Amino acid sequence: MIEACPKCKKNQLQEGEKLCPSCRNYAKERMRAMRQRRKTDGKCIICGRNPATKGVTYCSSCAVDCTQAVIGRRKSLEISRLCILCGRNQPEDGLKVCGECSEKAHTKYNKKTTEALKVSQEA
Ligand SMILES: [Zn+2]
Ligand SMILES: [Zn+2]
Ligand SMILES: [Zn+2]
Repeated sequence: MIEACPKCKKNQLQEGEKLCPSCRNYAKERMRAMRQRRKTDGKCIICGRNPATKGVTYCSSCAVDCTQAVIGRRKSLEISRLCILCGRNQPEDGLKVCGECSEKAHTKYNKKTTEALKVSQEA
């Protein structure tokens, strides 16, 4: 059975989708406009409540949430000896990322980023 989009109730849904492509686009546009508005207002684009920290687009409390989520994920992947980028493959010797991801990082980012993915020697 083909379901209709719950939003416009006109277009048919694609397999596994919750909104039709045009409603999805609309939602995306709305999201973008909302972020843009928050940015212009000097508000955090994540929560929209607190003023954004100077130089960034989010407030300090959201920044903490973001970094902690990232750091937490990375730490747990590091501990389980998995690539901190894809979380699937085993990291290469002396690296925190797998061969596949380090290859990708190499082409995508600059050398500095690739350096940062190396396991620090101090510890
Ligand atoms: Zn729709
Ligand atoms: Zn915030
Ligand atoms: Zn990887």
